[in-house]
Amino acid sequence: MKYLSSYFTFATAIALFFSFQPSSADSHENFVRCLYNYPHITNTISNVVYTQTNSSYSSLLDHTIEIRRFSNSSSKPLVIVTPLDVSQIQATIICSQRHGLQIRTRSGGHDYEGLSYVAQVPFVLLDLLNLREITVDEESRTAWVQSGATLGELYYSISQKSKTLGFPAGSCASVGIGGHFSGGGYGFMMRKYGLAADNVIDAHIIDVNGNLLDRQAMGEDLFWAIRGG
Ligand SMILES: Cc1cc2nc3c(=O)[nH]c(=O)nc-3n(C[C@H](O)[C@H](O)[C@H](O)COP(=O)(O)OP(=O)(O)OC[C@H]3O[C@@H](n4cnc5c(N)ncnc54)[C@H](O)[C@@H]3O)c2cc1C
Repeated sequence: MKYLSSYFTFATAIALFFSFQPSSADSHENFVRCLYNYPHITNTISNVVYTQTNSSYSSLLDHTIEIRRFSNSSSKPLVIVTPLDVSQIQATIICSQRHGLQIRTRSGGHDYEGLSYVAQVPFVLLDLLNLREITVDEESRTAWVQSGATLGELYYSISQKSKTLGFPAGSCASVGIGGHFSGGGYGFMMRKYGLAADNVIDAHIIDVNGNLLDRQAMGEDLFWAIRGG
């Protein structure tokens, strides 16, 4: 079986860049105000911001918690943001720093320790459920996949384009691209084609200053690190 090399994109390494200290003096209201007033946002951000009083907050928080023992955790995010594009991720990064909140980034929610949605400090959950676009180019045998997509969605998209191409990654269809590709990713084709991360040939990340970087801009050391190191 031939295989597609795959890219993953958007926010894939955000969590790696944060080293600031959260300040309890600042409040999440100021964070939300900062988001609403943030310049250069392309979509209406108020539609993708959920505080704990929002009626959709609990179902949204729960919807991809795979390890159920964390679903009743008392360490819940103060705010959930489900960005529609890069500008909303950039705003979340900058505003969370300004107002002393950390970020947890969630793709498929399959982290064994709940690290993508639990924290002992005040935090914002950046849930990438709206960023799941997949573009397969059969001719070049490559694909772009946004990190909020699942493995199952990636396999399905490839199968819609080709009867012979595939991608070597995990066997659980609901695992997210973001956590899987950034930690290795083993599956049935591993012995012949290696890990999922071995087949990632470019990535887009947004750094702590809100800059969007591709492989060339981030450099080979960081590109190595975000694929499991
Ligand atoms: C039922 C089940 C089956 C599994 N099967 C396999 C398998 O067959 N093969 C295999 O190799 N592994 C498997 N795993 C392990 C799985 O690959 C890892 O747990 C992986 O990290 C999950 O990724 P996720 O995006 O779903 O999880 P998440 O909980 O969303 O994320 C996991 C970690 O990655 C971080 N992260 C996620 N997205 C981003 C992003 N865009 N930018 C920065 N950081 C991000 C999160 O903050 C968190 O620390 C399985 C796990 C489960 C629970």
